[in-house]
Amino acid sequence: MFIDTHAHIHQHDPNEIPGIVERAVGAGVGAIITAGVTVEDSEKALSVAEKYPQVFAGVGLHPADLAAPLTPDDLAHLSRLALSPRVVVMSEIGIDHQRQSPDKGWQEAAFQEQIEVARQHNLAIVFHIREQGDDYDAHSARDTALSILKETSAGELGGTAHYFQGRWSYASQLIDLGFHISFAKTLTRIPDLEETAIKTPLDRILVETDAYPQPFKKERSKWTEPRDITGVAEKLAALRGTTIHEIQKATTTNALTMLGNRSSIVGAVLESFRSGAQSGEI
Ligand SMILES: [Zn+2]
Repeated sequence: MFIDTHAHIHQHDPNEIPGIVERAVGAGVGAIITAGVTVEDSEKALSVAEKYPQVFAGVGLHPADLAAPLTPDDLAHLSRLALSPRVVVMSEIGIDHQRQSPDKGWQEAAFQEQIEVARQHNLAIVFHIREQGDDYDAHSARDTALSILKETSAGELGGTAHYFQGRWSYASQLIDLGFHISFAKTLTRIPDLEETAIKTPLDRILVETDAYPQPFKKERSKWTEPRDITGVAEKLAALRGTTIHEIQKATTTNALTMLGNRSSIVGAVLESFRSGAQSGEI
């Protein structure tokens, strides 16, 4: 089965979550990593992960959601949450240079400090890098993120550039540091991503949906959900001249490799689908 390595399904109305998980399982998505974007939101991600066997949590502060510099209290709080075995990555962290984004100094410190929390708990990092206007040739956020990843030797922790946006020349530098490249539905509509999708080594590709509530889409059925992973995998298979089955096998193996010492709990859930022992709630 597939692993949706990055989503925010805990942000949906609690009544919606059982249906989202059920539809994911129906589409062959056996595990979903739901990522927090603030301290409170990370708590919420964990509480949903504690309720559904197929859901695991990421904890972290998204750079676009920083309302102030991170405090020692925030870091201690994240560190406490990271002790839960249901937390499998430090996410969502990163650098965001959109026009409205918070102070760059806060973002850089928060990224470094959260990489340190990840190191204390031996967690892989799942990070966001965004340039102003999503410019594929801009390099301010990309250069900042890359130098922090290098300075902190974050490649030792493993992780992924989630919702990858950019050129192959940038992706290849992240791969050299030891990271994976994660593709989302954007791959099905942005030709600029295709070169990276073709050239990324098979053992470094991940898939995700980044699913979160999308009330701006009129029809509820059009909201992105973890079940939409299949569309991303289909596109990857077509671009790489392989089958969706091969993409599934590779990306699930890669995700488990990325999760390192936290992978066994996720692997056990996937295994339970094979043995038919799946149940609804924990
Ligand atoms: Zn996200």
